[in-house]
Amino acid sequence: MLSEFDIIQQYFAQPGLAANTNEAIRKGIGDDCALLSIPAGFELAISMDTLVENVHFPANAEANLIAYRALAVNLSDLAATGASPLAFTLALTLPNADEAWIRAFSEGLKQCAAEFSCPLVGGDTTRGPLSITIQVHGLVPSGKAITRSGASPGDKIYVSGSLGVAAHALRYLQEEQAMSPENKALLDTAFYRPIPRLTLGSGAAGIVSAGMDISDGLLADLGHLCRNSNTGAEIHLPTIPVARPLKTHLPEQEALALAVTGGDDYELLLTAHPDKEQALLELGAKCNVPINCIGEMTAGDAVTCLDAQGKKVRFDQKGYQHFS
Ligand code: ADP
Ligand code: MG
Repeated sequence: MLSEFDIIQQYFAQPGLAANTNEAIRKGIGDDCALLSIPAGFELAISMDTLVENVHFPANAEANLIAYRALAVNLSDLAATGASPLAFTLALTLPNADEAWIRAFSEGLKQCAAEFSCPLVGGDTTRGPLSITIQVHGLVPSGKAITRSGASPGDKIYVSGSLGVAAHALRYLQEEQAMSPENKALLDTAFYRPIPRLTLGSGAAGIVSAGMDISDGLLADLGHLCRNSNTGAEIHLPTIPVARPLKTHLPEQEALALAVTGGDDYELLLTAHPDKEQALLELGAKCNVPINCIGEMTAGDAVTCLDAQGKKVRFDQKGYQHFS
């Protein structure tokens, strides 16, 4: 049976996952505290997310995928703030010391940590129902962080990448049927391996007026951004970048509905003054991430969706309806 000490030493303090001490990380795993140094002219951006078994992922989900997603969604919060990753901590509650599970978990974590240069510097390991809490720490130039509260009426609204594929994948996950290899691959990449838009976010920090990542769904999250900025918004539906698998697998209306209401894509939702459009599109091209303008911020507090004819529509799970 693995002791807590063995788990930490073998699986979490391993090279490639844990930090080498360097200028920024003065102490990693193994002491009472990790020590991070914040360079002059930078602020520390901090975010934390907890994933609980059967709430945020199914009990039988693969450990390496859960781990990858747990870190990636935290990194997405740094991206949305315009911060660059510095290090993360992990609070892991395990029902038992299942070594194969822990090994797979640490491998998934290592992949994501290496890919986005965010090493593990400490944590806590306890026994109990499976739960994973990750806290990320990032650096953002002082005063330059992207927030949800900076948008003004007249600002254009942009979204990175395409929308709806994670929600589409999640449907397969919830059906619990035998899955085709094609759908399994879609699920693994779309739901378990969201791409935190870190380069885009840090570049956008000097350009955009406000921003956030899309975790709950475009319309829900745009509603949050509007509330924080005291604005409304108008969305032009034909400009929504609906993810390709939805276009090929679903009727048009259902695909659009999933793209605007489905969560878990972790794309960035950004607003910018029209003068900044060129700079933002150039940044997107440089980062190799499509950027689409999908509408504009308005006075008032309503989030309105307009179809190709300029008619207001509202959404439910199956598609959309025109307002009568
Ligand atoms: P303490 O008793 O001081 O809280 P612990 O025995 O909990 O210390 O942890 C010992 C060291 O291992 C600390 O540096 C802690 O940050 C680290 N650690 C514990 N659990 C984890 C984990 N799951 N991932 C990374 N580091 C961990
Ligand atoms: Mg402890």
